[in-house]
Amino acid sequence: MSKSLQAIRGMNDILPAQTPVWRYLETTFAQLLDSYGYSEIRLPILEFTDLFARGIGEGTDVVDKEMYTFLDRNEESLTLRPEGTAGCVRAVLEHGMTGGGQVQKLWYAGPMFRYEKPQKGRYRQFHQIGVEVFNQPGPDIDAELIVLTARLWKKLGMSDAVTLQLNSLGSSEARATYRDALVSYLQQHFDQLDEDSQRRLTTNPLRILDSKNDQTQSLLADAPTLHDYLDDESRAHFDGLKRRLDAAGIAFEINPKLVRGLDYYGRTVFEWVTDKLGSQGTVCAGGRYDGLVSQFGGKPTPGVGFAMGIERLVLLMETLELVPEELNLPAHAFICAFGEAAELAALGLAERLRDALPGLRLLVNAGGGSFKSQFKKADKSGALFALILGDDELAGRVVGCKPLRDDSEQQSIAWDALPERLAACLA
Ligand code: ATP
Ligand code: MG
Repeated sequence: MSKSLQAIRGMNDILPAQTPVWRYLETTFAQLLDSYGYSEIRLPILEFTDLFARGIGEGTDVVDKEMYTFLDRNEESLTLRPEGTAGCVRAVLEHGMTGGGQVQKLWYAGPMFRYEKPQKGRYRQFHQIGVEVFNQPGPDIDAELIVLTARLWKKLGMSDAVTLQLNSLGSSEARATYRDALVSYLQQHFDQLDEDSQRRLTTNPLRILDSKNDQTQSLLADAPTLHDYLDDESRAHFDGLKRRLDAAGIAFEINPKLVRGLDYYGRTVFEWVTDKLGSQGTVCAGGRYDGLVSQFGGKPTPGVGFAMGIERLVLLMETLELVPEELNLPAHAFICAFGEAAELAALGLAERLRDALPGLRLLVNAGGGSFKSQFKKADKSGALFALILGDDELAGRVVGCKPLRDDSEQQSIAWDALPERLAACLA
């Protein structure tokens, strides 16, 4: 096939074999968030480029290297959203949803776009489910976000496969002081830093902490740690969070090098990671961003949130064989009809059955065909029963009901009795 007729690298089709597990994850998550009192918000996929440049921050990988940015026909610079938080903050500000200290507990789901090197668990179009809470400054809500994700892992059966990593980034003042200390330490060893880290020393030095380079990591062993620079309030906030997680029985590891890729985080940051997916092991990541709303010109408004990567969760479900079998249920019945009169009757009968039995999965043959070919289709469809309708059945207002998954005999069932008989196999 010519290249222009293929999907763009890193942008995947999600085929019918996979959509059931996607839907399962999405509905499980939506129900869970309902039960915690969070509301869904739906946001545009395109925003002005400036929103991300200002919100995520110049000097971050996302803004500098990963955005899909283009001019529209009106010469405005637009960007396919690389994440959800900036757009969500824009929306709550634009609609006055956080004024007067109003609390907002929101969630969204949808595709995000980043120009990254595609590999297992890392794509150019990927999907996130995200949660954002506004005007809740305390560690209690940070704990709630973590507790609800822990409940999700439990529901999905993957609690044993994920661990929680936690850190505090302190106040922006504390971070600035720490940044200076880190930079002056690393400058003494500039030549030993990998190339990316050398660049980050001026653009975004905290990101050097999660460099994948071994030599850089060994330099960092003796570097000053952020924890020693935490301000008292951030320390108290962090202690409050840890106490709540202990009380909820949620285990965590403190990872002093956890800094997150986006600029707007302060105080709490966390990641849920797994060792089952190779190097793309973070399935959920988030933290507090109390400074972001005012960065966009709003009144100072505390914010905290997280996003999880659906592709990575799907991969994890598949790897751990957690995909529930009942996601791929076969049809209950397949109607075979022979001749135009029977076809017309089949259409009405099928609709009456669907009215009577809302949970019914019913297929109706299309395209005519001999008895043999329709019966073969019914069998191949995986349906439990073939319902057979020819001239004789039509005259008697009955169908022939042939069980397809065992050897039992075909029975003749009156149309009127059919809903009740099928209801028995729905139960
Ligand atoms: P990573 O360190 O893996 O690049 P990140 O810090 O860039 O992640 P976030 O921006 O916090 O990730 O996004 C939250 C979650 O979204 C990640 O933990 C991951 O599960 C998922 N995610 C991020 N980028 C991708 C991608 N390119 N493909 C698939 N999933 C992704
Ligand atoms: Mg990334």
